[in-house]
Amino acid sequence: MRYHIDTIPVWDAVKLEGECPLCALRRKVEKTDVERYLGGSVMEPDTRIRVNEKGFCQRHHKMLSEQKNKLGHALMCHTHLKTTMQKAHGAFDRAQIGAKEESTAPLMKRMMGKTGGREEILKAAKMLREITDSCILCDSIDENMQRYAYTLLHLYQNDASFRRAFAASKGLCLKDMALLMEMAAHEMSGKMLDEFIRDLCSATEKSLEKTEGDLEWFTLKFDYRNADKPWGDSKDALERAVTKLRGWCIGEEPDGQ
Ligand SMILES: [Zn+2]
Ligand SMILES: [Zn+2]
Repeated sequence: MRYHIDTIPVWDAVKLEGECPLCALRRKVEKTDVERYLGGSVMEPDTRIRVNEKGFCQRHHKMLSEQKNKLGHALMCHTHLKTTMQKAHGAFDRAQIGAKEESTAPLMKRMMGKTGGREEILKAAKMLREITDSCILCDSIDENMQRYAYTLLHLYQNDASFRRAFAASKGLCLKDMALLMEMAAHEMSGKMLDEFIRDLCSATEKSLEKTEGDLEWFTLKFDYRNADKPWGDSKDALERAVTKLRGWCIGEEPDGQ
């Protein structure tokens, strides 16, 4: 797969020297996207159609509502609700028909589990799950992250100073490591692949060990006997540990803004 290469944001993210440059990029894209969806694109028919189909996840509804543009949020929500009601109606019908079938089928058939009514109810539940699992912002962010992961590999392969900066970095969070490893397995080969995977693993491993030690000291600081001892690097150890484990979600903004 070919991606549009934009090296500057990736270089900038590595220069931040945080726990994960891809988390920093994801956050930046997320904030820009949320603003964009409540800006001019609220009224773009193209965007509206896609929003109507997919909607937003809980996290992104929360971010949209924090933008203080209630009218924009409500307009998108209204047409998405109408589209969703049509889909949900299909699922409700299916579940009710299934339940009816189950209750009116002959006893023997029901006991042998041969009515198919329960299947229909389960299919309806699956339909509802699909309706509620999609998010247009998550999709857009994922697409961007694929591109950034690809760009990071491109930089690693073509820019010796990036290679050095990456090897000296704190690596990535485990979630983005998976993304980058998959991308590397598809896009790299030979000695370069070997070196990249080694740098990625050793930088991340080192950072995990440091974070673990800092987090332990963070917990020990709650002991009154340690109250007067210095914090060292432990003050934000909990936030850093969460970032390493699951990707950034708490603590200072990873994109430095
Ligand atoms: Zn990350
Ligand atoms: Zn989302």
